[in-house]
Amino acid sequence: MSSTLRFQVVGEAFKKRPIEVPNREDRPSEFFAKYVFNRQKMFKYLPANVYERMLDVMENGVQLDLHTADAVAAGMKRWAMELGVTHCTHWFQPLTEGTAEKHDGFVEHDGKGGMIEEFTGKALVQQEPDASSFPSGGIRSTFEARGYSAWDPASPVFVVGDTLMIPTVFISYTGEALDYKAPLKKSLKAVDKAATAVAQYFYDDVTKVVSNLGWEQEYFLVDEDLYAARPDLLMTGRTLMGHDSAKNQQMDDHYFGSIPRRVAAFMKDLEIQALELGIPCKTRHNEVAPNQFELAPIFEETNLAVDHNMLLMSLMRDVARKHGFRCLLHEKPFAGINGSGKHCNWSLSTNTGVLLHGPGKTPMDNLRFITFIVETLMAVYRHNGLLKGSIISATNAHRLGAHEAPPAIISSFLGKQLTDLLSALEESDDNQLFNLKGKKALSLDIPQIPELLLDNTDRNRTSPFAFTGNRFEFRAVGSQANCAAAMIVLNTAVAEALTNFKERVEKRISEYADNSEYSEAKGHSPKYHAIVSVLREDIKACKPIHFEGNGYSDEWKEEAARRGLDVEQSAPKMFMQYMAPSSIEMFEKMAVLNEGELKARTEIKLETYTKKIQIEARIFGDLCLNHIIPVATRYQSQLIDNVHKVSDIFSSEEAHQLNHNNLKLIKQISEHSTFITENVERLTDARRVANRIEDIEEKAIAYHDTVAPLLEEIRYHVDKLELIVDDELWPLPKYREMLFIR
Ligand code: ADP
Ligand code: MG
Repeated sequence: MSSTLRFQVVGEAFKKRPIEVPNREDRPSEFFAKYVFNRQKMFKYLPANVYERMLDVMENGVQLDLHTADAVAAGMKRWAMELGVTHCTHWFQPLTEGTAEKHDGFVEHDGKGGMIEEFTGKALVQQEPDASSFPSGGIRSTFEARGYSAWDPASPVFVVGDTLMIPTVFISYTGEALDYKAPLKKSLKAVDKAATAVAQYFYDDVTKVVSNLGWEQEYFLVDEDLYAARPDLLMTGRTLMGHDSAKNQQMDDHYFGSIPRRVAAFMKDLEIQALELGIPCKTRHNEVAPNQFELAPIFEETNLAVDHNMLLMSLMRDVARKHGFRCLLHEKPFAGINGSGKHCNWSLSTNTGVLLHGPGKTPMDNLRFITFIVETLMAVYRHNGLLKGSIISATNAHRLGAHEAPPAIISSFLGKQLTDLLSALEESDDNQLFNLKGKKALSLDIPQIPELLLDNTDRNRTSPFAFTGNRFEFRAVGSQANCAAAMIVLNTAVAEALTNFKERVEKRISEYADNSEYSEAKGHSPKYHAIVSVLREDIKACKPIHFEGNGYSDEWKEEAARRGLDVEQSAPKMFMQYMAPSSIEMFEKMAVLNEGELKARTEIKLETYTKKIQIEARIFGDLCLNHIIPVATRYQSQLIDNVHKVSDIFSSEEAHQLNHNNLKLIKQISEHSTFITENVERLTDARRVANRIEDIEEKAIAYHDTVAPLLEEIRYHVDKLELIVDDELWPLPKYREMLFIR
């Protein structure tokens, strides 16, 4: 881009655009789920017996027969065609970061030379999209490349534009999972089974446990003209170079600030469309970094929440373009300011109430609360390395441990009250019941402000897995990640912990049954004592994961290593956690993923990592050699020219003095340019060496160890040049432009 072009681009971005504020007369309650084939629509469009059957399928996991599927498809088609729908697609979540779809028209030959609109139960339930180019980690050799998608009736069908979208799982011909949804559903089944069995210790009427997820999606908006002028943003989702803006987030004036008008219009448009698709959007606000924002819905059952997050991310990208923005979901689009994450609020609830809410009214309520807290901690403790492996990626690696996001060590914050409660139980003797007060009323001495109810938990922003009152908040998940990756591990690990807990409690109950001390008559049931004694053990065992202090401090890194927590910093090495014996054992025992599937997943993670760094390195090299160095040289020539001219008209002594500054700049430009040119060559060599490595794991490690660090090293010199070179010549939109034009 020539210099004038950059100014044109920036100028365009600054020009006032007409702000399109969507206008709606009706209220969210009226248009919510307008484009979703939910129960209401089923009731209206399906025969009564088919509707009943579908409820059984959705609520009790009964398998759908083809006869019912045909009847459902007929009703669905009628509803969809009223909305002008002409196509349908199976919508699935391959092991890339996005979603996939392949549209088929509702058309079929009518046998008389014409066409009819047709949509059968079979087309609804199963498709063979082939899709052989998706990563499968070697599960599908090309001669057996068939992949099948199968409808997930637990996630309702919806309409986008002229297409009926059918959420599906994606599996191979031989039944292995090729996506996120299949293992996610298995992990939810596992946690349902294990948690229901344990919940029944406390409540007779529990028949089902559901895992809930409430995600908070962070994102950046950038003016699309500026975005288009940054090849690095365009191709990698982040800026590979760019000096800090003098003002960025240090004034804290963006966080929770009033939302800029153009952004507010975008948000409103997005929310309306999301609500129409049944995504229960609730919260929106400015985030810490300039041009960074957040959207959070009301939490939902995990499988549906994951689908809704995937849908929302594609909607965000789409709606942003309509408003002249680009939505950046990358975890670290800009160096030096906060990156974006996706806090995943996780909890379990039964058909009769929540499980992580406490403390309760009765000793049994309290014991239930502590059981689910402690066994969650056991899960996170046993598999802390794997949990980290589930959220790390080439892009999220920039954010973790960067003093703005959770550190790259998984630990859990519980708050003072819960910490006290656990130590009280640990140290109690069997005759003490624990007694913890409910919400503490805090009287604020401010006129006209009512009393506030304080949560039992305080906040620790540095904790990756914090208890926040009635849920845990997993904060390490990346903004563009599919939350399923983390949710699969978390739910499976909790299922394993609860299964293990129950086995030990059962054993102890039979031991205590013969002990006359523990009799119902004395108010000390064997069950109660068995649970308490196992919990005491576990509270001790999982102590290393419990950390209330500052997760950003250097002391914590040392302390965590001493406690035996996983402190690995390299993404490719973290991926290998999926192949750890404890991980394979857990996934196989809980029937979520088998060893072959785990191996395939790990390979895909490693390959994706390598490719991402590879692409970054190539674009970075191009930018350096074709954009930065030529411009720096041009500016240097101008300076040299000036030095000559000054020498021509002044005496050599005066010229020497007058040229002092320019000579210094000329030299600095040479030094930075030389460093950049030489090291871009080293970068290319490092890539070449890494590319020759056959082993996927070693190759990814080579990319991590030898290629990625060079990008940072060279970048430093590019950013220095940005400070020296004439602003008018600089070819790329600068941070201050990208972050403050809105
Ligand atoms: P924060 O203060 O952490 O930014 P937000 O209000 O932005 O909180 O988001 C909190 C998220 O947690 C919302 O999506 C909310 O629906 C969700 N949430 C609340 N209670 C639960 C729960 N019991 N289980 C799971 N998610 C929950
Ligand atoms: Mg939060």
